[in-house]
Amino acid sequence: MIEKIKALEHIARQLEPQPDTRKQWNDSVQTYADDFLDNLTKSKVYQTEQVNINDLAQLPITDAPKDLNDLLYLMKEHLDHTGINPASGYHLGYIPGGGVFPSALGDYLAAITNRYAGVYFASPGSVRMENHLIRWMCKMIGYPDSALGNLASGGSIANLTAIVTAREQFKIKSRDIENIVIYLTEQVHHCVNKAIRIAGLKEAIVRYVPIDSQFRMQANLLQEMIQADVKDGFQPFLVVGSAGTTDTGAIDPLEEIGKICAKYNLWFHVDAAYGGFFMLVDHLKPKFKGIELSDSLAIDPHKGLFLSYGIGAVLIKNVKAQYEAHHYMANYMQDALPDNIELSPADLSPELTKHFRGLRMWLSLHLLGLAPFKAALEEKILLCHYFYEKVQELGFIVGPFPNLSVMIFRYIPESEDANTFNQQIAKGMQDEGTVFLSTTTIGNIFWLRLAVLCFRTHLTEINHCLSLLEEFKNTLLERQSVKVG
Ligand SMILES: *Cc1c(COP(=O)(O)O)cnc(C)c1O
Repeated sequence: MIEKIKALEHIARQLEPQPDTRKQWNDSVQTYADDFLDNLTKSKVYQTEQVNINDLAQLPITDAPKDLNDLLYLMKEHLDHTGINPASGYHLGYIPGGGVFPSALGDYLAAITNRYAGVYFASPGSVRMENHLIRWMCKMIGYPDSALGNLASGGSIANLTAIVTAREQFKIKSRDIENIVIYLTEQVHHCVNKAIRIAGLKEAIVRYVPIDSQFRMQANLLQEMIQADVKDGFQPFLVVGSAGTTDTGAIDPLEEIGKICAKYNLWFHVDAAYGGFFMLVDHLKPKFKGIELSDSLAIDPHKGLFLSYGIGAVLIKNVKAQYEAHHYMANYMQDALPDNIELSPADLSPELTKHFRGLRMWLSLHLLGLAPFKAALEEKILLCHYFYEKVQELGFIVGPFPNLSVMIFRYIPESEDANTFNQQIAKGMQDEGTVFLSTTTIGNIFWLRLAVLCFRTHLTEINHCLSLLEEFKNTLLERQSVKVG
């Protein structure tokens, strides 16, 4: 048996590369990363598939090891050159962020040290670090010191965790579900509807509160709807407000909604996944007045703090409710009994073993300092305002004045269907590939949409986008006049 163990050990030890191999691998990966970053502005931000991505997926997984440089080559060809490049400053669609460099270093160290960040007992340091980051966000929002939350993988899970907490706090049983009412607007992110379904509340009554011309919830109508529901014997339960909608950056009247929720005893959840971190900029804070009245909130460091994908946060005012909704005991966890020192992520979220995602946030905030984050956030808003003016000079019409760094716009040609015309602009821009814009449809109207939030987007990128838009619009108009002529 000893022989056999030793033979296996010999092979198994290949899992631990020796220092010289480690150095080689580190060097190769670093060269790859440097090359990627140094060529970012030269690479296209969007490429439709040209290579056969099956090469990557079909590479056989074999007993024998492969060469790192060959693998990196495959990655470069098949990953970096297809689809959207979210690291690029020319990514102006959806909600970009970019991924600041220290975020990668934090992940590297989190992976090397592999601390068990789910349970305080197993890694007091990492739990303390994550809870400290959560409290820092709570403070920014204006929540009391007793509030906490969880670092999730993104906004979707953050929203889900909040909704599950609300459901448990209101002790909603399956027989109640058809009678409870959830209020939101059509502009709420679709992950909220998804979370309602996953939380088992699919049969609940979901009411869409009408929005005003700025795409904000009309609080007076919310109140009327609640009153009518109470009168009809339904049980109003939850209101979901947005602090920065994905389509237009609209912020619902949070203070009014908060007061209504307090009056009728409803859970008030705010989705601030996109907009929340603009609160770091002092003079933007008043836009979010009333956000502190909410019971829970979702906010995405992988958007507004420009960290790499995979970190969102849920903040919950009454952490006891969150704990009651998520903690569980198992016999094999008996050494990890909750103590009064720090609550563990495992007791506040669906996760047990988890990525130590706090390290990338902690390292980025400390290594870079807050000043460049604040400046970048303010810059993005001004870039959006600048675009708002310039695009109108090009003859485009615009949606509401951008409240944050997202806006919608479209061109209305004289003798052609406007939706088709703008779809053609969007398609043309995407095929060209040096700028990525996304689009949206609001009430049957097709809009082009600009979202400035990649930390690498500056004036150069916005000006390039404007000149491309002008070019595509003119080409399409010329084609049109040839056809008509
Ligand atoms: C991006 C976004 C979400 C979803 O967050 P993910 O991190 O993509 O899961 C939810 N709400 C809003 C307002 C968003 O912008």
